[in-house]
Amino acid sequence: MGDKLRSGKQIDKTLRDLSLKKEAPKSGYVLLVLLYTIAMFGTIFTSRNGGRIIHMFDSDIPFSAFAGVFSSFANICIISLVVLYRKVGFITSLILLVSQFPMLVVNIFLRHNLNSFPGFFMNLLTIIAVVIIYVSHNKVVKYQQTLRDQAVKDRLTGLPNRFACNELMADLIKRDEKFALVSVDLNDFKSINETMGHDTGNVVLKAVAERWVALSDALGNDINVFVARLSADEYLLIISGYSLSEEIDNIVARFKEELEKKMTVDGCDFYITACYGITEYPKDDTVIDNLFLFADAALHEVKRLGEGSSVMHFRPEILNTEKNLETERKLRHALDNKKIFFNLQPQYDINHNLRGFEALARMRDSDGSFISPAEFIPVAEKTGLIDRVDMRVFELAVEFLADVLRGKKDADLIISCNVSVKHLMKNNFIDEIKGILVKYQVPASHIEIEITESIMIDSMDKALERIDEIKALGMKVAIDDFGTGYSSLSYLNNFPSDLLKIDKSFIDQMNTSESSKQYVAAIVTIGHVLNFSVISEGVEDESQIDTLKEIGCDYIQGFVWGRPMSADDALELVFS
Ligand code: C2E
Ligand code: CA
Ligand code: CA
Repeated sequence: MGDKLRSGKQIDKTLRDLSLKKEAPKSGYVLLVLLYTIAMFGTIFTSRNGGRIIHMFDSDIPFSAFAGVFSSFANICIISLVVLYRKVGFITSLILLVSQFPMLVVNIFLRHNLNSFPGFFMNLLTIIAVVIIYVSHNKVVKYQQTLRDQAVKDRLTGLPNRFACNELMADLIKRDEKFALVSVDLNDFKSINETMGHDTGNVVLKAVAERWVALSDALGNDINVFVARLSADEYLLIISGYSLSEEIDNIVARFKEELEKKMTVDGCDFYITACYGITEYPKDDTVIDNLFLFADAALHEVKRLGEGSSVMHFRPEILNTEKNLETERKLRHALDNKKIFFNLQPQYDINHNLRGFEALARMRDSDGSFISPAEFIPVAEKTGLIDRVDMRVFELAVEFLADVLRGKKDADLIISCNVSVKHLMKNNFIDEIKGILVKYQVPASHIEIEITESIMIDSMDKALERIDEIKALGMKVAIDDFGTGYSSLSYLNNFPSDLLKIDKSFIDQMNTSESSKQYVAAIVTIGHVLNFSVISEGVEDESQIDTLKEIGCDYIQGFVWGRPMSADDALELVFS
């Protein structure tokens, strides 16, 4: 089977075309033979006219002195032929050298011309040298070939490996040729290995390679498909020579069809299928590593989607999916291991007296770095894990409150906890909250629930009902990120909130644009008319505080007076 694979014409041709299998050009061979012939005639001519004189470098040099130069040059040609053109060069050299013997023998033994004697021995010694060089050089070349084959070929199937793919892609890029990279993964190969054994598994892998190599050979001249194996049941196709991207799908379909034909190994019938992830150069990217990554990403996405589809082209969104999946995995791990923790960001009244803290979820990566809530909260929302995040932070916040109240019974402190609208709407929400308050024996009046204004769009009636329940427990309610979403005054009027949180984006622009300042002022006024307190978020400098004072804003939250901090630092702040 190995031999058959090696006959994969396209693949071998491609490997040969790459620097991996470079051979000396044919023109060099012709040139060497020609130079040898000229040098031999030079030798004969100069030795026959040995007496003639040539004037060079202010001296008289006899022609015979050049005979040695020509014969050395002839020898160099012979040696080069053997080294560069191996077997062909060796045979040619032997023919060239041996063919001179009859003439030398005639000269010496019949014509009794003893001038040919040195030539006769020279020829004989050269033949011996050529044989020695050929035999020893052949050993080195064979060894080199083995090393090179190991470097570029997969041992089991004899297919090119990842290194060879890299070389080919670099070459195609250099020649500015477009190509498609198709990452292939066989479906359920593991079960073949487990039920039938590794030997059968190997035969299947080789058979797949054999089929695809044969197909690659059978394709038209314009299209090249380089079939490679990367690892266990992962193959790679590099398609080049097409003119329209649509052709890629047809080629992949042919490889798919070929693979799915019945395969009989050890008397068992197998129907092998696979998933295919496609990326294109230069359409998707121009960096080889990224192309590998994208083809794999498309492959993983199609595998993840499961039944129904088996071929997918790379789209940038796939990377998000990949990243989100990774974040989801990390988030689950953090939740299962109680690794979600929290920070507390202080909130002050306008005279810099502490009002309380907002509890903010935090999560670390395995290397200790923070993963931003902007990354993991949306994933948590999408996967329904947000309930667990909210409750974990809520419990930590209540535990913190219990610590504060233990030290200062009459502490007038409020802890704001973010709750996702989806979570809030769940039926068990109130029970969960109550359970935690009972566990830590903390009065609900110290707790504020932050809800984004999107709640006013999503089923308003149910939301109002839920908010009434929260308020009935004695907790406060804040409307988060106010001004960023859809809000209508009439809704706001019905909304039993205690606090309006003006979004950072308005505070940012407040001191650079008069209309933004007026907008913030209007929100503060409306809030007060409706009996809400108003807090500005993301306040970063003193000038903003001055403006907010002037406008009449009640509270400040922002880096200017306090960044999110650990519970220990927050305790210190409370008791300072
Ligand atoms: P948010 O509720 O609007 O929280 C305020 C965000 O603004 C926090 O970012 C806070 O660190 C940041 N911030 C506060 N002051 C400043 C400032 O002066 N300058 C700047 N540049 N930023 C400031 P963080 O902690 O990254 O939280 C981002 C979002 O994640 C939060 O926005 C909230 O929507 C969500 N989130 C955080 N924890 C939870 C949670 O436990 N549950 C839920 N459902 N969402 C959470
Ligand atoms: Ca918030
Ligand atoms: Ca906010």
